[in-house]
Parts: sequence; C-alpha cells; structure tokens
Amino acid sequence: MQEKLQFNIHIERSQQGTYFTVPFQVTEEVQSLTLEYEYPRRPQSNQVLANGVFTARPEVNIIDLGLIAPDGAQVGASGSDKTRIRVSETGSTPGYRPWRIDPGEWQILVGAYKVAPEGVTVQYTVTLERKAVRLLKGDLHTHTLASDGVHTLDELAFKARRSGLDFIAITDHNQMISPDALPQIDGVTMIPGIEWTHYQGHANFLGSARPYDGSFAANTPEEARRRFQSARERGATITINHPYEENYGFHFDLNELPFDAYEIWNGPMREANLRAVAAWHQMLCAGQKVPACGGSDYHRDTPFIFLGGPTMCVYANSNGPSDILEAVRRGRSFITFAPDGPLLNLSAGDAPLGGSVKWEEHPELQISAENLKAGDTVRVVTGARADLLFQAPADGEVELTCRMESPGFARIEILRAFLPGLPMLPALLSNPIYFEK
Ligand SMILES: [Zn+2]
Ligand SMILES: [Zn+2]
Repeated sequence: MQEKLQFNIHIERSQQGTYFTVPFQVTEEVQSLTLEYEYPRRPQSNQVLANGVFTARPEVNIIDLGLIAPDGAQVGASGSDKTRIRVSETGSTPGYRPWRIDPGEWQILVGAYKVAPEGVTVQYTVTLERKAVRLLKGDLHTHTLASDGVHTLDELAFKARRSGLDFIAITDHNQMISPDALPQIDGVTMIPGIEWTHYQGHANFLGSARPYDGSFAANTPEEARRRFQSARERGATITINHPYEENYGFHFDLNELPFDAYEIWNGPMREANLRAVAAWHQMLCAGQKVPACGGSDYHRDTPFIFLGGPTMCVYANSNGPSDILEAVRRGRSFITFAPDGPLLNLSAGDAPLGGSVKWEEHPELQISAENLKAGDTVRVVTGARADLLFQAPADGEVELTCRMESPGFARIEILRAFLPGLPMLPALLSNPIYFEK
C-alpha cells in the first residue's frame, strides 16, 4: 500500500542564502504524499566544567521546506517550522494546498537559510500511499444558506460525518463555490458544485470551481447547451436533476446536451422518482449507457427529508473528489435509501458495477447484498424482464449468481416494505453491468 523514497543531499556552506530544488518521481497516481526531513539543526556538544557539565545546542543549520507539483505550481512552503507535511486531494497540512498527487516529477524546494562551515547533510523521506478501491457513501445534492438551505457549509460537513457519509457535494442554486471555501473536515470529502437552476430544468455541475463564465441565465436551448458544453470542457461531472419533478422537471432535449449521470432518485422515493427510473430504464433498453445517480436535495430536516436520503454509494479508487466523481461517471455505484440502507456488490467476470463484459465469455452475474431486513426482495432487472432472485427470510446478507440468457444489461433492485400494508418500494437501485454481443 505504501512506497517509500529516501535520499540524502549535502549542502555546502557556500550555498547558504540560496534556494534550489531536488526532484523525485511519482510513477503512478497515489492518494497522498508525506514528506519528512531530518538534519542536525542544533548538534549538541558537552563541555566538562570544573564543577559539572555544560551541554551546548547552538542552532548551526536551518533548512527550509517547500513542495512544487509537476506543473510547476507551488503546493506549499513551510519555512523550517514543520519537518513533516502531508498532501492529498482531500486535505493537506496547513501551509500546503489540497492537491491531487499526479504522476510526474515533483520537486522539493530547499531553502538553505543557515549552513554550518562544514556543510550539512539532509535526509528526506517521501511516503506515497497507493490508491485502492473502496466503497464510499455520500450525497451529491445539497443546499446551504448560500441558496435556500438553512445550514452553513461547516454545519453540513459535520452533519455528513455524524450521518456516516464519506463525501458531500455542495450544490447551491446558481452559486459557484471555490474549493478553497470548503471546510476541511477529517473523514468527509467536500466536492464543489453548483445546481444550474433554470425554469426549464436543473442540473448539477460537480467538481469544477467555475464551470462557465458569465451568468447562469439562458433564453434559448443553444445558450443552455453552451453552459453545459463549457462545464464539460472544464472537467465538471454533469447530472440531470429530478427530471420528472412536477414543477421543476427537465424539459431540454437530452440528446442535445452533454451529461454524465441521470438523477433517478431525488429525496424520498415518490412518483416523480419512479417515473425517472422508468425513463432511465428506457434509455438502457435503447442501448444507451447512462449512469444513474441519486441525492437528497437536502435543504433542512423534515419528517421525510434527511442528509443521505438517498445515499449515493460509489466504488472509488480513493476518497479524492476526482476519484469519487470518476466512479459516478462510470456508473461504479448504487443508490441506497439511507446511510444505513442495504449495500451491494455486483460483478461479471472482471467487470465491476458499470462495466462491460462479453456475454459469451461471462454470462453470469455475481451479486452480494448486505444489511438486508427480513422480507426484503432482491430482483434482477434486464431489458426483457424483472426476476425475483431472493426474499430474505430474516435480517442478513446474501451471495447470489444469475445467468444472463442474452446480451444486454442487468441491474439490481432491492425492494422493502417500509410500512406494514404499504406497497414495497426501492430500498436500493444499482447501476447495470453491460453484457455485450
Ligand atoms: Zn433542483
Ligand atoms: Zn436542489
């Protein structure tokens, strides 16, 4: 999981008062970088006195630290104050900016502030923590005081942590937010976003500080398309929000707009969401590979609305915003009704959730579901039919396989009777695996 690089440099007295850089290579994308350094700043010497011992600790060396990214940008600088710093996309030691650790040539910025006459040897240790797939829970759709929510950014971040969420996206109506304005709270990845909010439809632009220039306003489909195109070019992940909500449905032509995911589950499960699921299902049947997503559209607590209701669960390579959003775009995800709702893993051959396999080579779907409640039903939905695979006789978890009779897609639904006497409703909806001819 970890790679350590160690090297020494020797600095001559003649270099005192100068700055220079020491390069090191990062060969793959890693999650975090920790840089430590050691040198004899205050070498000690003992002097025997007639009546005791004096230990001298004069400050003879002062070596400053900074870090430069492969693109030449200064990630941070800390003088000689810190001898250990950590940098990652989700948070860094104060004095260093949150930064994605891309492969390439990184540089330690060395400042030789004070050097002893005989010179000084400095030992550097760089620790690179590798990425690994993990399941993260979050909410892709939330509002703060900046629009019509009631909580501050900090309150939302702490609420997310208390709710058991690993990430939240801040998506205020037509309000851009800079990543620098987001609180750094241990254990919760904050994703900058904006809910582009228009009389003809709402969409989230996630992960970009400035998805478009000028205002949100658009009076023609072409003007709207330019906002979406700009967001796409600036790396935003675009979701089409609550497409069938009665007064806020999405009325632009989806064939004319770039987007990455379709919000099939917005807040509590209800008619508008069931219609969105049906529309998404039709897209899948038509051969489109459209990832589904969900979000609470949280503004404030009400009897049916809470942060993480529903919860977006992603299999991401790290907890960095870019890896979380990549998992959203690839459909490596499922939506569960609450942070403590059922969980799912799905695969076929080497293909994870959202992936594709050749049907003739791998016709079998592997399903594992946990946090099931007695009575929950697990069903597989394809273009042709929905088949009951399992009904839980008690609380527990289950491993299942299911053979595909023909190419196409297969996705999983877990249904639950939330209240006695009421019809079963989705407790979990997954993205598909695609079985290709
Ligand atoms: Zn909206
Ligand atoms: Zn919203």
